[in-house]
Amino acid sequence: MGGMIIDGTKIGNELREKLKGRIATLKARGKVPGLAVILVGDNPASKVYVRMKEKACESLGIYSEKYALSAQTPQDEVLELIKRLNQDEKIHGILVQLPLPDHFNEELIIESIIPTKDVDGFHPINVGNLMLGKALFQPCTPAGVMELLHSSQIDPKGKNAVVVGRSNIVGKPVAVMLLQEHATVTICHSRTRSLADETRRADILIAAIGKPKMITADMVKEGAVVIDVGVNRLPDGSLVGDVDFEGMKDKVAAITPVPGGVGPMTITMLMANTVKSAELFS
Ligand code: NAP
Repeated sequence: MGGMIIDGTKIGNELREKLKGRIATLKARGKVPGLAVILVGDNPASKVYVRMKEKACESLGIYSEKYALSAQTPQDEVLELIKRLNQDEKIHGILVQLPLPDHFNEELIIESIIPTKDVDGFHPINVGNLMLGKALFQPCTPAGVMELLHSSQIDPKGKNAVVVGRSNIVGKPVAVMLLQEHATVTICHSRTRSLADETRRADILIAAIGKPKMITADMVKEGAVVIDVGVNRLPDGSLVGDVDFEGMKDKVAAITPVPGGVGPMTITMLMANTVKSAELFS
């Protein structure tokens, strides 16, 4: 018998339905949540993500503004735009699609967003509050991972959670969130000495590496829960995760597919943060 397939599309849609109720309540008070998305340059993946974010706003009735700027846009112009959006009462969330072209200082751009509109949760103030266990906006992908666990009745408390990857947008924050929920957390990365020995101890394994099918069935314990954050495009155009889904789906207790796992949750959590911002600050 195979493990449970954690359906991110379904869980994401259920959450979006709940958000519709909160948006209706806001609208009854004359408030419409608003998200501004800034895209600089023409990175094809970024364009796709921005389009998906716009569509999600449309389908939920969230007001959105898109600023598609050329790759040559001077940094000061983007800083000016953010300054204006920081003060714009229609806008509750500001998202700068990363990566930015090389002449940008990403840290400076992120720090220029007022923390109460930083719905990506990347501003150092929000990162610090996350560490302190009192996050205002949790970063979207890690928050999506936690929602998948909660919706699947998987409680991290007391479990061995192993996170492979230590990036600021996925690995580190998801490790902090698992710790907050009382897991015993191990964080692995490219210098980890014996990765398989670490991953085999995982009751909950989070893969956020960016290497197609790197985590194989022999690296997971029977009955583990596996959350695959990876999105990798193969030469034939297909998308695969960081774990060998087919190879291990019969060995594990639960696993997320790619696509259809973490991906749909990320955008849902962005919508949730925008609604939260409108509820708190408008
Ligand atoms: P990243 O910044 O490139 O970080 C990758 C991490 O994996 C690093 O910490 C790196 O270690 C570690 N790593 C690389 N090779 C390794 C190896 N052989 N053994 C152990 N660890 C290794 O990537 P990211 O931004 O966190 O993203 C990770 C993946 O998630 C990517 O596939 C990305 O596309 C995907 N992603 C998906 C979503 C979504 O919505 N579904 C959102 C964000 C990202 P070092 O730190 O030592 O270099």
